[in-house]
Amino acid sequence: MSQDHHTKVLIIGSGPAGYTAGVYASRAMLSPILIQGIEPGGQLTTTTEVENWPGDTEVQGPDLMVRMESHAKAMGCEIIGDIVTNLDVNSRPFVATCDSGIKYTADAIILATGARAKWLGLPSEEKYKGFGVSACATCDGFFYRGQEIAVIGGGNTAVEEALFLTNFASKVTLVHRRDELRAEKILQERLFRNPKIEPIWFHELDEVIGTESPLGVEAIRISNTKTGKLLEVPCKGVFIAIGHAPATELVKNALETHNGGYVKVEPGSTRTSVAGIFAAGDLTDHIYRQAVTSAGMGCMAALDAEKFIAESN
Ligand code: NAP
Repeated sequence: MSQDHHTKVLIIGSGPAGYTAGVYASRAMLSPILIQGIEPGGQLTTTTEVENWPGDTEVQGPDLMVRMESHAKAMGCEIIGDIVTNLDVNSRPFVATCDSGIKYTADAIILATGARAKWLGLPSEEKYKGFGVSACATCDGFFYRGQEIAVIGGGNTAVEEALFLTNFASKVTLVHRRDELRAEKILQERLFRNPKIEPIWFHELDEVIGTESPLGVEAIRISNTKTGKLLEVPCKGVFIAIGHAPATELVKNALETHNGGYVKVEPGSTRTSVAGIFAAGDLTDHIYRQAVTSAGMGCMAALDAEKFIAESN
């Protein structure tokens, strides 16, 4: 028996954009199928407290995503734990092939694959990844109880990670290439108030220094962006928090992109350069990149897909 399935709307991705699209497409009686991808729940599953999700003064990121999944499921969205490895945007219906080998054909596609952490690309960063170098404080912070840690970056992620890491570390050094943080003011205040955090301004990571056998981090060498002078900071863990890049592998050469790889949509809509394919959330949004704006775009994508399907019949 064939393992292939047809759906009116296939949603790819399981962050706030994907699950919200699932809620709306289900309520439009489109019986959507949602493929969760490699990280079910997306980036919010790697954060702790979320304080800007309307209706919740404070909610844990992973809990919020479990609730969104349950909501989409309760409305009738079929949720599949699989990874789309290929998307044929030229055939009609569209064909998505999953890691399991199962194929899904769909009249419309909602892409909500989000974004993932950027790396600096240093050979020593690569060498110690998983052995002291990480991009996820909530995943790996626990390993550094009582140790010194460094965080690289100056945005919301860097400041949130630095604050979270003070739960474990004896000291957290925040290394930023300017002397002004990009993070929200409320987070900055918390950072400056925290006695365990020391910011080092105008510095960039030059090299991660560590042991060979076993592999492990001992320090970072950072360089002054003005003078080039090198400084060594002892630490057992280094968290790289220099931003995120859109996860566009599936559609890289198939859809128009702009602003460094973000999927381009028609202004005020989620329509991409291919009719019937809609994009929502961090994969298309290079400006706001918030859970609530992603959810809003997920809603828009479901409404756009509903209209597209109605007009195609
Ligand atoms: P981001 O806001 O783009 O910040 C990236 C930081 O890394 C910036 O401070 C940047 O420096 C620095 N950086 C970038 N490339 C670098 C390099 N090669 N070397 C050294 N430093 C480098 O990224 P993010 O913090 O991951 O946040 C992404 C989005 O998610 C944002 O829109 C953010 O608001 C959102 N977010 C929101 C929350 C929340 O609402 N609680 C939490 C996390 C993330 P410069 O400042 O000099 O450019």
